[in-house]
Amino acid sequence: MGALIPVRDDLGLFEGYHSPQVDVAIRLNTNESPYPPPAAWVEALAAGVGEIPFHRYPERAATDLRAGLAGLHGVRPGQVFAANGSNEVLQTLLLAYGGPGRRAAMFEPTYALHSHIAKITGTAVVAGERELDFTIDLDGARRLLADHRPEITFLCSPNNPTGRSESREVIEAVLDAAPGLVVVDEAYGQFARWSALELVADDVPLVVVRTYSKTWSMAAARLGYLVGPAPVVAALEQVALPYHLDAMKQLAGSLALRFKPEMEARVAIVNEERGRIAATLAGLPVETWPSDANFLLFRPLAKDADAVWKELLDRSVLVRNCASWPRLAGCLRVTVGTPEENTAFLDALTEILT
Ligand code: PMP
Repeated sequence: MGALIPVRDDLGLFEGYHSPQVDVAIRLNTNESPYPPPAAWVEALAAGVGEIPFHRYPERAATDLRAGLAGLHGVRPGQVFAANGSNEVLQTLLLAYGGPGRRAAMFEPTYALHSHIAKITGTAVVAGERELDFTIDLDGARRLLADHRPEITFLCSPNNPTGRSESREVIEAVLDAAPGLVVVDEAYGQFARWSALELVADDVPLVVVRTYSKTWSMAAARLGYLVGPAPVVAALEQVALPYHLDAMKQLAGSLALRFKPEMEARVAIVNEERGRIAATLAGLPVETWPSDANFLLFRPLAKDADAVWKELLDRSVLVRNCASWPRLAGCLRVTVGTPEENTAFLDALTEILT
């Protein structure tokens, strides 16, 4: 009998990505939608599940789902790849285009899973530094890409956890300078005014990643996708496990597309509430940054961030504590909730800071 051998040496070097879930009244730590999906979607899904031939493997090409998404974005179904959450889309990209001997570039601070999944897939991480206001300096980006020649370059727009989206100018400049594939993670894309989706074409080395977890109120369903060149989609299909998308999920995702107006109404409420939170934060002793997403990053100025996080928790309000993350010293991130939740958060924070 063999022994319980240790895991790969390179996996021991970093910690997993977790957000502690605490039992609180107001949960504003994981950028989910504060609203459940429409009741009519739940009913349609329940009825549809009864029709699924469960003794058969699901339809491997996810034809309906991809056709629906292609219609939503005005592309061909062959330009859409779907997986179990956008994290799995990112993982599949890294499995196909990264791996030992290859590099993935990103501009820190950004979504932690870009470097995390890169490392798990054996891809070397090349980290560029954002400016103090978290924008990307294009000259620095061009140098980084020229020096390291990464096979994959990640952008996150709007950027988690800092909140701003990238302009068309920045994305085009990075696309111009990047020697390989550019991945624009638009998990929060619907909250922003502009999307890189309009740049997608079969002869452009760009993919745009989206998720059902945020605006579609379906984080529990674990469904994400990308829109990109058909040859990239074909490569990802070769790497994905057979039947990776179960039949219930394919149905859930297709049915959701019937409820686009409801989704857009939720986005409008969240964006309005984001403005209200930003306006209140502007009057408190905190540093904040503009956001095009459903969350805001802020840094308490006169009080220790860990203490503020704990005092919010004492008032049953949970936000994301980024204070110990590299380049984000003293920062907290709050997800936009329902108007009532946001008021409770703002009242608690005002009480703690003044
Ligand atoms: N990208 C970004 C930027 C995110 O913030 C998240 C969620 N935290 C994801 C991708 C992953 O989302 P999911 O796997 O739920 O689609």
